[in-house]
Amino acid sequence: MNVSLIIAAGGQGKRFQKGLKAKTRPNKLFLDLSGRPILSYTLDSFEVIPQIREILLAVPKGSEKWIRDHILKGRNGHVSIRLIQGGKTRAESVWNALRKTSPRSEWILVHDGARPFPPRKGILELFKRCTGLDGAILAKAVVPTLKKVSRQNNQIIGTVDRENLFEAETPQLIRKSSLIKAYQKNPKALLATDESSLIESLGGEMKVVSHSDWNVKITTPQDLHLAEAYLGKGSSSIAIGFGRDTHRLVPGRRFFLGGVRIPFEKGTLGHSDGDALLHAIADALLGALALGDIGDWFPPSNPRFKNVRSSKFVKKILQQVRKKGWQPDRVDTVILLERPKLASHKKKIQQEVAKLLGISVESVSIKAKTQEGLGPVGQGLAVTCEALALLRKVH
Ligand code: MG
Repeated sequence: MNVSLIIAAGGQGKRFQKGLKAKTRPNKLFLDLSGRPILSYTLDSFEVIPQIREILLAVPKGSEKWIRDHILKGRNGHVSIRLIQGGKTRAESVWNALRKTSPRSEWILVHDGARPFPPRKGILELFKRCTGLDGAILAKAVVPTLKKVSRQNNQIIGTVDRENLFEAETPQLIRKSSLIKAYQKNPKALLATDESSLIESLGGEMKVVSHSDWNVKITTPQDLHLAEAYLGKGSSSIAIGFGRDTHRLVPGRRFFLGGVRIPFEKGTLGHSDGDALLHAIADALLGALALGDIGDWFPPSNPRFKNVRSSKFVKKILQQVRKKGWQPDRVDTVILLERPKLASHKKKIQQEVAKLLGISVESVSIKAKTQEGLGPVGQGLAVTCEALALLRKVH
């Protein structure tokens, strides 16, 4: 299944800004939610969905640089994220992006940027249920008692039967050819408040995937406070793992630490490239989710892994971590090595590790120590690395 995701992030958030001074009016999607912009959480939620091949972010004109610096920088590149200029309405933003999706995509998933926690299970269910249809959307059965009221005098006209009522949410998954046709045929398409209604207007077949998760759309400051409370809901949203690795130092081998080549008269003995730092980090990532160790995943007995660069191991493990709905958040490491001095390489190692993990440089700590001449490391016979990894659950 080849899916392009369009995130509508072009809105000005008028309801949200009510009451704020004109000068301080932000786009609500850039507002801080427990230390990160709201839109970052939205992207986290979709980057772990394997069916999504590209992400098109429809954003307000003039916000591109801010988004690159504060949201896109430091994200890993396994799904391409493109910025598309948003339109005057939500539907116009989606239309602008739709025309720029890959010719290979068959399905379009449209999502409101202001919903940072779309439920993973619900998204996967959309993919299963759309077969033979024009699309499927996430929705919730209406629970409150609904009154029909006269706008003139607030008099109650009647109680609405809620039996068949659902509240439409996003994401909405639509067959690409159907969505393009709907935009082209419906003269009022650019005023539509969701994609499903466009398909419905042409008699297309849509279904709801009903769910009960908290797929909040942040429209008021109160929603933002609730979202903060939700994020801090317990220790189950973080996981921590530890890894440690030692390799002998021998002549005639190359020396890699954190993917960086260290010029030295000796290198690490190992079946792969012997990058002890990446092996420790890989074990820490696996350890956080109790997924075994690097030897279980990449047995030295397998000739395929001979002399392979260890960044490959880490990438493979990261794929698994993301599949399970987690993302690396920070790592702290110690390199125990007598010689050579690492002071001049630490910055480069930090940058390489950050790039590999798809996190910011500030989230990677590289510390180097000697062993004061004691033990095998102290005698220059080996290098030992230790790593702690903190993972964050993607909602
Ligand atoms: Mg090793």
